[in-house]
Amino acid sequence: NRSIVVTGAASGIGKATAELLESRGDRVVRVDIRNADINADLATIEGRAEAVALLKESLKDGVDGIVTWAGLGGPVGATLLVNFFGTIDLVEGIHPLLLMSTAPRVVVTSSRMSLEKPNEEIVALLLKRNLTEIVRRYPSSEDPTEFYCATKVAINRWMRHLAVSPDWGGRGIKVNAIAPGLTETPMTRSTLDNDVQRQYLLAMHPQAENVLSQPIELAEIARFLVGPESSMLIGQCIYADRGTEAILRGVNP
Ligand code: NAD
Repeated sequence: NRSIVVTGAASGIGKATAELLESRGDRVVRVDIRNADINADLATIEGRAEAVALLKESLKDGVDGIVTWAGLGGPVGATLLVNFFGTIDLVEGIHPLLLMSTAPRVVVTSSRMSLEKPNEEIVALLLKRNLTEIVRRYPSSEDPTEFYCATKVAINRWMRHLAVSPDWGGRGIKVNAIAPGLTETPMTRSTLDNDVQRQYLLAMHPQAENVLSQPIELAEIARFLVGPESSMLIGQCIYADRGTEAILRGVNP
């Protein structure tokens, strides 16, 4: 049996992933702001440090994988903090635990929004981990998707570096990402009610009646990536988005 950490496990895709892994016999440690095994606010430095300390305490024999679904979507500073630092601080924090596994896996969350053009200034600050400047310069945004898009682009770039770095890929830790398309969860409940967004989304899928994914479908992909079966995948972002990436990038990406 494998032990797996799932962040964002109290809701949506994270909840479905935790339940699926448990139903297959894995031991799951849930992290979320509430209703989890480890309740921590991943928007704060203290919350992230506490989550890592508690994971180290409860997983003394090591951990086989982590799936980071915790995230926010709004144009508020916390989106930058949870989506980026809430991922990298937890993953990097449990590096010693992952090294104790015979088949260690890291699965982080990107999005189809990582295909949009990001605010490169924010992406650069995130990758430089310049938390002070980020908090000072970007408390909120006029653009509803600016922060979200920047975090998902930054996560993809960080993920690729980590995946092939000597301390991670070089020591057998397989690091990959999942980029979901529109999935029916509390985060997206109202998306299809908005006419403009609905029309845009329909144009981004080959099949109009097949636009919305269910959390369990993403959970199945996470289960595969965090399991020993994914041994040959390194540094990949799997666009599980019902054709959106194929339409946006076309045949000659
Ligand atoms: P969700 O809102 O149902 O779940 C997100 C979880 O993250 C919640 O349980 C929430 O409590 C947790 N979280 C938020 N802020 C936190 C904080 N400060 N500290 C600790 N936990 C916190 O959303 P979801 O749709 O299941 O999304 C999961 C992930 O998938 C997100 O990273 C999201 O960006 C990504 N994603 C979702 C979609 C979609 O259409 N639903 C599409 C692309 C990517």
